[in-house]
Order: sequence, then C-alpha cells, then structure tokens
Amino acid sequence: MSYGEDRVIEAKNISFSYNGNVALKNVSFSIGKEFMVIMGPNGSGKTTLLKIIMGLLKPDEGTIKVFGECPEKVREKIGYMPQKENIARHFPIRVIDVVLMGISNKRFSRKEELKKAKEALKEVGLEKIWDKPFSSLSGGQQQRVMFARAIAKEPSLIIMDEPFNGVDLPSREKIMEALIKRMKKGVAVVTVLHNINPVLHHVNKVLLLNKEMIAFGNPNEVLNELTLQKAYGGMVSVVVCKEGYCHPLIGDTHG
Ligand code: ADP
Ligand code: MG
Repeated sequence: MSYGEDRVIEAKNISFSYNGNVALKNVSFSIGKEFMVIMGPNGSGKTTLLKIIMGLLKPDEGTIKVFGECPEKVREKIGYMPQKENIARHFPIRVIDVVLMGISNKRFSRKEELKKAKEALKEVGLEKIWDKPFSSLSGGQQQRVMFARAIAKEPSLIIMDEPFNGVDLPSREKIMEALIKRMKKGVAVVTVLHNINPVLHHVNKVLLLNKEMIAFGNPNEVLNELTLQKAYGGMVSVVVCKEGYCHPLIGDTHG
C-alpha cells in the first residue's frame, strides 16, 4: 500500500461497533483518484464504512484520512448519494430544493447556488422539471435528482450507496454518463454496488467486505470464486462473465 499526497482515502485498521455489535473489523485500504466499488452481503458494513469515510461516524479503532485530513474537515469536498431506502420520497419539496440541499450555504451566494443546482440537473437531463414536486417524479428520476444533489457542489470525491438499486436503465445510463464526465476531470468515486458488470470498465479498485475485509485490489485480483464465496457464503451463486471476471448473483438485486 503506497501512501502519499495523491491519496484520496487512507484507512488503516478501521473497526466499528454499534452498541457492542461489530459492524466493521480491521479494514485497511488506500485509494487515489480512482473508482472504487464496495461489495458485500446485506449487513456486511458497507453503509457504515461510507459513513466513516464521510466523518458521520468515528471509528472505534484505526485511522481514516480523506485528502490527507480528518473526514470532518473535508466534507465540502465530498458529495454523498444515500441509499434509496433512506430517502423521504414523499416529502413536499421541489426538485431544485432537493439539489440545493447538497450545496453548502457558506461557499456560494444564493444566485451561484441556484446556477450550480440547475447545472447539476442539466447533467442528468432534468433541468426542465426543476420546479416540479420531488414526490411527483418516477423512482429513476428521483435517483437522478439525488445524484445531481451529490454533484452540485462540485465535489472531489463522490460517494454513492447502491445508486442503481431498482433504477431504470435510462436513468442508470444518465447517472453513469455524468459520473464518467466527472471522473475524467479527476474526481474520485466510491460506490456500493451489487452488480459490478455494467461499470466494470471504469472500476480500478474493489473492496470485498463481510465486516472484515475479505479482499481489496484490482477487479481481476478480487473478483474470483474463492473470495466471493468467502464474502457471501452459500447465499450466492458466482457467475463468470465477460473477460473472465466473476460476480455474485444475489436474489433479484440489480444495484
Ligand atoms: P450494509 O450497508 O452492508 O447492509 P450496514 O453498514 O448498514 O450494512 O450495517 C452493518 C451492521 O450494523 C448490520 O448488522 C446492521 O444491522 C448494523 N447497524 C447498522 N446501522 C445501525 C444502527 N444505526 N444502530 C445499530 N446497528 C446498526
Ligand atoms: Mg447499506
């Protein structure tokens, strides 16, 4: 593991428990300006790890640095797209206001904020419905709005939690297109995914988790039958796909 100034995230021996229940145990990894996918079964600590990267939770043991700092200090540089299940979909709020929530109120004037929010909506093809109620949108459109919310402040690190779960293909493609555009500008991406295949070409690192870190490295190092069985146990069929990579097939999940 190399450590240096180009490091976006450096996690060393991270452990975390909720009231004595272990959620993460001894997790270490380091990435630069890369696209990292976190995979693992339900309850394996994926969301917990994202929250630690964002400084929303503090590890019980170990250290985490983001852009060389404590996560709390660099929150302005991080855009977050939470797990769909945790979003209040029926809240009476306009699309543009959802996006504005992603921008800090200190860095920009209101006018600048509005401009940035509209630009972000444009990236996901929803600029025309900026004043519609969020609740009137389809699930896929809502997910695009949540992505716009994550990128509106122009973060250097984008963190997404199962962004494609139950999302229609056009919305997925729109989000990926906007994401790739950002990656080309040097933005790092960390995302929890169940199905890595649609994005495999863009992925540099995979972290396979089941509370403990099962494997971390390039997709071809990490995605093999042995590691996937270790992470998912008997709950999974391992599918070998194009280019010889394996991926877990779990239930009806497409995220
Ligand atoms: P994943 O995202 O991989 O499904 P989580 O990080 O959400 O996993 O959860 C890891 C473990 O921690 C699970 O056993 C879950 O029940 C538990 N957990 C998650 N959030 C809380 C919480 N707020 N309080 C108590 N336990 C929690
Ligand atoms: Mg989760």
